[in-house]
Amino acid sequence: MTSISDSISTLKGIGPKKESLFALMGINTLGDLVNHFPYTYQDRRIFNNISDLTEGSIAHIKCKVTLVVTDKYRKNKKQNLRILVSDETGSLDVVFFNANYLLNTIKVGDPIVLYGRASINRGKVQLTHPEITNLKMEKYQPKILPIYRTIKGISQKEIRKNIDLILENQLEFEEELPLEIVKKNKLCPRDFAINNLHHPQSKEHLKVAKFRMIFEELFVLQLGLTMMKRGVVDGIPLTADHEEFIKLLPYELTRDQQKVVDEITSDLCSNKAMNRLLQGDVGSGKTVVAEIALYKTVKSGFQGGFMAPTEILANQHYESLKAHFEPLGITVGLLTGSMKEKEKENTVLQLVEQKIDIIVGTHALIQEKVSFGKLGLVITDEQHRFGVNQRAILSEKGGNPHILVMTATPIPRTLAVVLYSDLSISTIKELPKGRKKIITEINSKSKTRNSYDSLIDQIKLGHQGYVVCPLIEESEVIDANSAIEVYEKLKIQYKELNIGLVHGQMKQSDKDSIMLSFKNKEIDILVSTVVIEVGIDVPNATVMIIENAERFGLAQLHQLRGRVGRGQDQSYCYLNNYSDGEISKKRLKVIASSTDGFYISEKDMELRGPGEIFGTRQHGIPDMEFADLVRHIDLLETIREQITDLEEIDEKILKKVEKIFGKNVNIKL
Ligand code: ADP
Ligand code: MG
Repeated sequence: MTSISDSISTLKGIGPKKESLFALMGINTLGDLVNHFPYTYQDRRIFNNISDLTEGSIAHIKCKVTLVVTDKYRKNKKQNLRILVSDETGSLDVVFFNANYLLNTIKVGDPIVLYGRASINRGKVQLTHPEITNLKMEKYQPKILPIYRTIKGISQKEIRKNIDLILENQLEFEEELPLEIVKKNKLCPRDFAINNLHHPQSKEHLKVAKFRMIFEELFVLQLGLTMMKRGVVDGIPLTADHEEFIKLLPYELTRDQQKVVDEITSDLCSNKAMNRLLQGDVGSGKTVVAEIALYKTVKSGFQGGFMAPTEILANQHYESLKAHFEPLGITVGLLTGSMKEKEKENTVLQLVEQKIDIIVGTHALIQEKVSFGKLGLVITDEQHRFGVNQRAILSEKGGNPHILVMTATPIPRTLAVVLYSDLSISTIKELPKGRKKIITEINSKSKTRNSYDSLIDQIKLGHQGYVVCPLIEESEVIDANSAIEVYEKLKIQYKELNIGLVHGQMKQSDKDSIMLSFKNKEIDILVSTVVIEVGIDVPNATVMIIENAERFGLAQLHQLRGRVGRGQDQSYCYLNNYSDGEISKKRLKVIASSTDGFYISEKDMELRGPGEIFGTRQHGIPDMEFADLVRHIDLLETIREQITDLEEIDEKILKKVEKIFGKNVNIKL
């Protein structure tokens, strides 16, 4: 054992079998193991008196065995063991189940230590199956005891023993943070932090150690974000007229739309590259704003890229952009992962040759081999689905394209500061005129029929509706409605109606054809999973039923609801709640009582924590063990300021950043 990068197999007692078990926990090296921190602690520094124990209290007592009784009725089988113990203050019954292993080791008169939760049995305090240490055979050290996450095959004891072995060897834990940062923020040394996280000398020591880890996590996060920031770079001025396009629209822009169009087009005209976030609730009309910007770009002699998070959405945008632009002599292309290789190659070639003015696509657009002829503007729709990292990659495809990021999931201001610190923000609050407020109702388990009655009423009026389920197919472990089940049931129940099914495991071409039929009113009820979550536009659909609404995030429910209420007619959203829990009710009430996406997302974050909404995969934001973006937002802000003052960054911490954000970030300060 010489360095923390050695394999854990260098520890005594860890052979290939244990090694692979540890690997399951992501632990391969000594360093990994030492970074496996306790998730909680038990304060075992002070012993309790037996006489002080009450129901439910933690008992940590040092006592003597005064009586040993075995369970006579179950001789030769697994036996229970009852002992009576006493200290100066009183005596106590203790029960062990299946205690064969204890029978011969516990004798009257033995000094022991017990740790467990006290309960009351027939009016008397008792301990059931506590942890026991026989002081005749083992040493016992009163201390704050670390409790680790374990898996089957690796015990708490084993983890403790091995971590202690490494700590005893005093391997070097090098400082990774810049020294001036450590000093300025009065952080404890890394070595101190690690030792105290495993074996806190006191609660105060633990606090200091934890603060250091919180700081470190936030530092890495902020460093990554800073690196991805483009700062203000020179851009291509796109100055062609866009008013002529607005004049062609079949409706007037809302005031908010006009305002954001002004903000965006003035950015485009300038010689600095735009880096702007456009946020607006579902249905607020962001797409047309994007179209205006694309029109201006193409008329200025450049190409535009439009990136959507799913194939369905990319297809939908492609269809509508084509319909709006081709009559004006502007060519629109599509590039998605499921297209045939030949088609893709062909499209890529046309892009390079500038035969395509606007390319719509999914993640396929950011694949390495795609290059553009003359990229002027990149728009990403429903940005929250893209990692921050991908944003950086795309912007590197052309010289310095203008970037517009659109989202319908309003990001709580606190998080926007972190995620989009480099972006200017435009907001559409007002919905287009004539929109009716969507009527939202929560149905308990026994009332879900109401939602279907209403759906049928609407279908009789010539409308259509969605039924969204949390699962694709029936599951043995999760008790919730599945799309396939509900689809089959509805088909039997409403033979006269056309019912469609779309879910994430279907082939793209099948999904597309179903969506198209729904758009063309050939389907009355579309049963689906959350694949229709974002962007799908079918104004004739007026009912949204969400089965097991309690299983969805609030922001997600808000998104789903936004699929209806897109036309002139009154729309309805039914949240079918199969849970009796108070929290579920409370959460769903937030949706039923508000249509303000900002308010909903703030509430969602409060109720679930940011990790749930902004998971690693969606954002490229790392899951953090110690830090919490909501609680530590001020610290993050401080760190950001301090990072801008830095002149040099250690190689090792850059490695950490790279590990989280990928290699494609610009490593420059
Ligand atoms: P989102 O912001 O959710 O992407 P869309 O851009 O899809 O919203 O717009 C929703 C619907 O509203 C579309 O059918 C669009 O044609 C329509 N729309 C957009 N702006 C206006 C407006 N100013 N007046 C009337 N309808 C509009
Ligand atoms: Mg949209």
